[in-house]
Amino acid sequence: MKSREMVVDTIRTLKLLSKWGANMAVGRRRPVIAVFSMTHYCNFYCPMCPFGDADKEGQIVLARRKDLTTEQWKTVFDKVSSHCVWSIIEGGEPTSRPDFMELVRYLHSKKMPITLITNCSLLHTIDLDELKKYIQFVTCSIDSVFEEPYCKVRGVTPQTYRRVMDNLQLLTEHKVPHYFNSVITKYNTQEFIDQTYFDRAKELGANAVSFTFVEDRSDVDYSLLPDRETMNKVCASILDYMGKKKEPQVMIPPEYFQQILQDGRGHFDECGVWKSIFVNGNGTVMVPCWKFNSPENTYSLLEHSVDEIWSAPQWDIAKTCHDCEVLGCIWYSSQPVTTFARNYMRGLGKMISKERPELAEAV
Ligand code: SF4
Ligand code: SF4
Repeated sequence: MKSREMVVDTIRTLKLLSKWGANMAVGRRRPVIAVFSMTHYCNFYCPMCPFGDADKEGQIVLARRKDLTTEQWKTVFDKVSSHCVWSIIEGGEPTSRPDFMELVRYLHSKKMPITLITNCSLLHTIDLDELKKYIQFVTCSIDSVFEEPYCKVRGVTPQTYRRVMDNLQLLTEHKVPHYFNSVITKYNTQEFIDQTYFDRAKELGANAVSFTFVEDRSDVDYSLLPDRETMNKVCASILDYMGKKKEPQVMIPPEYFQQILQDGRGHFDECGVWKSIFVNGNGTVMVPCWKFNSPENTYSLLEHSVDEIWSAPQWDIAKTCHDCEVLGCIWYSSQPVTTFARNYMRGLGKMISKERPELAEAV
């Protein structure tokens, strides 16, 4: 996959990063990455995810009642685009929204680079040639590259697995830049341990891959995390692969696996969750994160500005909380900004180091 940084508006990015740096210099933290959870609905059943709820009819009703309308999302995009240098569209399943392309087009008109995270099961319903005009990458949420564990992790039929595989082929045919993101649970460790994952990912057209171990949910009474010994084997095997092969490129830095191997968890001084604005399907933002979900920690972006929300006292919680032990996205958002930029914002890390080295040092 070639870096598409040429389509990112460098001037806009550097202007926003300067503003961000100036805010940081006076102790004002602000978000730089936007994550839009576009809908409460997902057609999959993943047990590690709240959108995997088995009651799909109830979920459809919830989505109808609570999802932001097209116009409301546009209002949110307007607010967020004056802060953030990059956006990530996810779900629920974002491509299930009938206005999906309209919203992507609008976000693109705001000069926001876009990463689309999708389970890929509905991509055949989308005009991929149009899509690739607006987005930088599709992040294919493919937890296993083999049918049986895939169906187990995602709670779907072999038919759905085959549909997803066909749709991955479509991405390759339409030359849509894409990579895989896989959540490692106790169900899919074997393909990482025996390294068959990598060849199969390459075969399926992914020349880059990213992983995270599952972070167990606090609202359920089961654990999906592999046992410590198995986790160690997975880490050692991925590190071994990274050491000897360049393709597919592993987008998460080796330190993540080294730390888990050594201590059973990732390390960070201070949680960096504040660097991203995570907007729920109904337009709310939880401060500091989903884990502290309560009415007093919930702010609506339709009613408040980003500045107002980022001045909330609850951000202090994140200064000392280290509850996310293995969650890849929190681990790297808590690393220096160039490491942080390396994953979802490929190419941007390089740009920051080159053009604004002082920002790379700032956090
Ligand atoms: S496909 Fe993604 S959004 Fe849907 S249930 Fe699975 S993890 Fe959640
Ligand atoms: S480390 Fe704590 S504050 Fe940070 S995202 Fe995890 S639960 Fe939230």
